[in-house]
Amino acid sequence: ATSNWRTFQVEPKIICVTGSNGKSTTCKLLKHILDSKNFDVEIGGNFGKSALELSEATDGCIKILEISSYQSELARTLQPDLAVFLNFSDDHLDRHSGKGGYFAAKARLFCMGVPEKSIISIDDYEGLYLSNRMQEEQTLANPVINISALKNLPGLGWNIFNRKGFMVEYRNKKQVYAIDLRQNKVLVGDHGYQNASAAYAVSRALGISPKDIESSLSSFSGLRHRAEILGKKNGVTFVNDSKATNAAAAAASVGSFKNIRWILGGVSKADGISPLLPISENVK
Ligand code: ADP
Repeated sequence: ATSNWRTFQVEPKIICVTGSNGKSTTCKLLKHILDSKNFDVEIGGNFGKSALELSEATDGCIKILEISSYQSELARTLQPDLAVFLNFSDDHLDRHSGKGGYFAAKARLFCMGVPEKSIISIDDYEGLYLSNRMQEEQTLANPVINISALKNLPGLGWNIFNRKGFMVEYRNKKQVYAIDLRQNKVLVGDHGYQNASAAYAVSRALGISPKDIESSLSSFSGLRHRAEILGKKNGVTFVNDSKATNAAAAAASVGSFKNIRWILGGVSKADGISPLLPISENVK
C-alpha cells in the first residue's frame, strides 16, 4: 500500500493572514513578492480556491491562506508557520456574539496555532494585546515581528514601522533598511503602509532581501475594487473602492485621498458609520 505521508527536502510553509480589513491586498502583495523570487506559491482560503482545493504540497512550496474570523473560529487544528494580524474593527458582531467573541475568533490562530513567527500590527489595542501575549509565551525565541503605520518602534525586538513616509525595518535598535513609499500610487495611506509592512515582514521572515522586496513593492498593481484608480478625466481622478464593506475600511481608503466627491450607499452594520466622522470634513 502507498502511504499518504511524504517527506520534503525543504518543508512547505503555511502563512495565514487575518484582520478585519486588508487581508486580500496583503495576500496578493505577498504572492507578488514571492513570485518574483520564483517560490512555488498559491493563495487560498477566503481568497480564490478554498484551502482544501489547493494543489498538493511540493518541496519548499508556500501556501498563503486568507483567514476570515468565520474560518479561524472553526479551523481548530490549523497551525500556520507564519501568521499575520492586520487590524481589528467591529465587524460580524452578530455572528460572534459581540466584540469579545469576534476577537477570540481571530486570536485563536495565534494562541492555539503557535506560529513560528507572528507578524502583528500594534496600532489597535487588540493587536498590542496579542503581541504582548505572544511574547510572554516561553516556548519560542523572538516569536513576534511588530508592525505599525502610526508609531515609531526603534526599541528592542524586530519592528517595521512608518517613519515620515518611509517603511523602516529595525532589529534590536538598529536600522536594517528603509523604503521610500511616498511615490507609490497603490500602497497609499496608513492602511497601505500596514499592508506593505505586513507583506514585507513575512518576506523578511522567509529570508528575502529588503532590496528585492523594494523592487516588488514598486511593481505591485493592487487589486480590483480596492481603492482602484480607474483613470483621470478633466483633472479628476476616479477611484473604485466598492470592496470597502464596513465603515473602518471606507474610512481608511477615503482618508488617504484629498478633496473628494464620494458616491456611496448601503445598509450600515452593527457598528454604524461613526468611524467615518473624522474624515467627513474632507468630503463633499
Ligand atoms: P479584506 O480581504 O480583509 O476584505 P481587502 O484587501 O479586500 O480586505 O480590502 C477591502 C477594503 O478595505 C479596501 O477597499 C480598502 O477600502 C480597505 N482596506 C484595505 N486595507 C486596509 C487596512 N489595512 N486597514 C483598513 N482598511 C483597509
